Amino acid sequence: MIFKINETHDPELTSWVDSANDEFTDFPIQNLPFSVFSSDGHTFRVGVGIGNYVLDFSKIAAFMSSEMESISSLCSSPSLIPLMGAGSVVWSELRVNLSKLLRSDSKYAKDIEPHLYAMDTVEFAMPCHIGDFTDFYSSIHHATAIGKLFRPDNPLLPNYKWVPIAYHGRASSVNISGQEFKRPWGQIKAADQNIPSYQPTSKLDFELEMGILIGTGNGLGETIQMEEAEAHIFGLCLLNDWSARDIQAWEYQPLGPFLAKSFASTISPWMITMEALAPFRTAYSRPIEDPEPLPHLTSRENSMNGGLDISLEVGLQSRLMKQKNIAPQSLARSNFSHSYWTAAQMVTHHASNGCNLRAGDLLGTGTQSGPALSEAGSMLELSQGGQVPIELHGEENRVFIEDGDTITMKAWCEKEGARRIGFGSVDSRVV
Ligand code: MN
Repeated sequence: MIFKINETHDPELTSWVDSANDEFTDFPIQNLPFSVFSSDGHTFRVGVGIGNYVLDFSKIAAFMSSEMESISSLCSSPSLIPLMGAGSVVWSELRVNLSKLLRSDSKYAKDIEPHLYAMDTVEFAMPCHIGDFTDFYSSIHHATAIGKLFRPDNPLLPNYKWVPIAYHGRASSVNISGQEFKRPWGQIKAADQNIPSYQPTSKLDFELEMGILIGTGNGLGETIQMEEAEAHIFGLCLLNDWSARDIQAWEYQPLGPFLAKSFASTISPWMITMEALAPFRTAYSRPIEDPEPLPHLTSRENSMNGGLDISLEVGLQSRLMKQKNIAPQSLARSNFSHSYWTAAQMVTHHASNGCNLRAGDLLGTGTQSGPALSEAGSMLELSQGGQVPIELHGEENRVFIEDGDTITMKAWCEKEGARRIGFGSVDSRVV
């Protein structure tokens, strides 16, 4: 099941919320993403993004169709779980309802307006309790570049083109945009030392990823067919999967990353629904010389429309740049369409042994590097293993992330014949 384009995607639609009609807004009426927000710093509830505003979704039940009314009334809690539990058919009905209420010709504009809050005045919280966090490794360009640094003669392991590689991450340290965290300490063994020592990481790095938020799960022992996979996804967000490369290099064999990745991961507050992304689908294909995925990871729909054209960008603002009021410097731009595995394949693979996914599980896609160096989604790749410094505004340079640096990630979709939509951003800072 892949959502189809319908009346809610019509690029001609406009809203009575003027800022939603700005050419470069991330949140036009064709987007309608969900978050958990607070306007007073202590009561958090579900919000919908429209232009420069957050709509308090829990206050508009009276203006919705009767089936939608009960859903809306569940949304005064600080979690998307009740909404996610309603399932993909309801998510779609809700989108039509919201679209109609927010259109220029809506007769409820005056009634709804008091429930809008300026986005730059609210506080966001996690969209729900994250039960489990699994991080994939779906960019073959990232896997090859990293493989070369760790194993120069054997970069891509033989399973890569058959298995969507992943590891189980740590859910407790996933936080919302704005996260500040301390530089982690760990066991590090320098190449010229015989024994490791416990010390602060000197190779702190970001990873430019997408997060996939599971909306409905599967029972333990059940699998998820490719045709059904996307119905289990509530939405996508940005994910910065912070990593300590020196800790990683020493600990990763034979069981994979552990403490190098579990100290902080940051997500953007807006969950962009799979339906909002319908105009930006792309075909999914592999180079002709590569094997086709096994049949259980293949579907006609996935081949035709499984990919997503989502532009990604990462920027850095150092403490000095912030003091001097210099805007974040772009480090790289990439696109989710480079992914070797689709979102549906990640979901299906995850459940293919009968493992039960649950509402609120978060899947990371892995660092989304493209084929060019300018599309690399980590400092490890951009600085070529810490060998080539990146110059910042002519006064500083970086091979890895320094204390006080803020990393900002953005994502957006644009295509001729469709309204541009954006994901907002995710910021986090090491202190
Ligand atoms: Mn990662």
